[in-house]
Amino acid sequence: MASKYQAPRGTFDVLPEAARARGRIERTAAAIFARAGYEAVATPAFEDTELFERGVGKSTDIVRKEMFTFEDKGGRSLTLRPEGTAPICRAYLEHGMHKLAQPVKLSYLGPFFRHERPQAGRYRQFHQLGVECIGTDSPLADAEAVMLLSDLLGELGVPGVQLRLGSLGSLDARRAYLEELKAHLHAHEGELSADVRERIDVNPLRAFDADDEGTRGVMASAPTIVGALEGEDAEHFAEVRALLDAAGVAYEVDPTLVRGLDYYTRTIFSFVCDQLGAQSEVGGGGRYDGLIEQLGGPATPAVGWAAGIERILLALGEAEAEPAPRRVFISNAAGGAESRLAMALATELRHAGIAAELDLAGRSVKGQFKQADRIGADVVVVLAEGGGGQLRDMRTGDQRDVDLSNLVDEITGGEA
Ligand code: AMP
Repeated sequence: MASKYQAPRGTFDVLPEAARARGRIERTAAAIFARAGYEAVATPAFEDTELFERGVGKSTDIVRKEMFTFEDKGGRSLTLRPEGTAPICRAYLEHGMHKLAQPVKLSYLGPFFRHERPQAGRYRQFHQLGVECIGTDSPLADAEAVMLLSDLLGELGVPGVQLRLGSLGSLDARRAYLEELKAHLHAHEGELSADVRERIDVNPLRAFDADDEGTRGVMASAPTIVGALEGEDAEHFAEVRALLDAAGVAYEVDPTLVRGLDYYTRTIFSFVCDQLGAQSEVGGGGRYDGLIEQLGGPATPAVGWAAGIERILLALGEAEAEPAPRRVFISNAAGGAESRLAMALATELRHAGIAAELDLAGRSVKGQFKQADRIGADVVVVLAEGGGGQLRDMRTGDQRDVDLSNLVDEITGGEA
C-alpha cells in the first residue's frame, strides 16, 4: 500500500540494484584516486551561505536561484552545499593546509543540492565525486586532473565520451576579455534573449551557453578567449595540450566552452557523453587560481573537477547491473536448536567472507527453498534432525552430506 508521502520533487531513493551499481563507481574512483595520491576528505552537507556567495559568485545561476538556503535557530544563514570546491578550499584554509608541502591533493564524494528544474540527469539532490589539486599552477596538475577523470570514465566503461577543452586565461586576461565580450554583446543587444541581455554586465560568458537562435547568431561572431590568449596563459594552455597529446588523451579544443561557476581561470574542461540527452555532461572542472584568495587566503593556484554519479549511471545504461554476491542460504525450518545452529553457521561463513543468509520469516522447508532461489543462492545448507547436514547445489540440484564442523571448506572446496 503506497503512503501519501513521496520523495521530494527532484530527489530519488537509491534501491538495492542501483546501490550496487553506485558502489562499483565509488570503489573504482576511490582506487584511481588512491593510486594517484588524492586523499579522501569530507566536508559538511551545509555551510555558511556567504561561502558560496563569495566562492561560486553572486552572478551565477547557482547563487542567484538554485541554493537551498535556510536560517538556523540563531538567525545564521546556512546553505545546503551546491558544489564541493568552495567547501574544500574553506577546509584547506581552516586547517592550515597551505602550510603543508604543496600541492595538497584531495578527493571527495557526497550529496549536493541545487534547486533546479528536475529532468532526466538533473536532480535537486545529486551526488558528485571529484578531486582538487591545490597549491600548484603547473600544467602537469591540469593534465593529471583531466587524466584522472578520463581514466575513471574509461575504467567504468562509459560509452561515447568526448572531452572538450578550453582556457579562460589568467584573472587579468579574463577581465580584459570580458570587457571585449561585453562590448560585443552591447553592440548586438537587440538580437539577444532577454535573459542574456539582462546579464551582459554581470555574467556575459553565459551567453555562449544560450540556445535561442538570436543569441547564438550573435555568439557566432563573438571574440573567444582562447583566440585572445597571450604570453604565459597561451604557453600554459599549449603545455596542457602537449601533455594530453603525449598521454594519448583525445580532446577537442572548444573556444566557446564556459562553466556555470565564476571561479574558473585558465584551463577548463568538460566530458560529455552522447548517450545523455540535454544534460550531456558527465563531469568537468578546471583551474581556479583566484578562489582561495577570494575566500581570504593567500594567492593559491588550484585545479579540480567533479563528476555526477547519476549522469555516469545514466550513461552506462541498463548494462550496468552488477550481480549480487554469491550467496549461501541456510535452512532452519524446525526452529529451536536448529535455528541456533543455523545462526551460528551463517555467522561463521560471514566471518570467513562468504555471503550467507538464513530464513528470518519462519518459512516451511519448501518456502525456504523458494526463497533461496529468489535471492539467487548458489548453495543451500539443509540441516538434518540430529545434527547432520547436507549441501544442495541449486544449479544442478545435487545434494550431498557435509561435515557441518568444516562448512567453510565444504563450500569453498578449501579455497576461502
Ligand atoms: P558542476 O559542479 O556544475 O561543474 O557540475 C559537475 C557535474 O556534476 C556535472 O558534470 C554533472 O555530472 C553533475 N551535476 C551538476 N548538477 C547536477 C544536477 N542538478 N543533477 C545531477 N547531476 C548534476
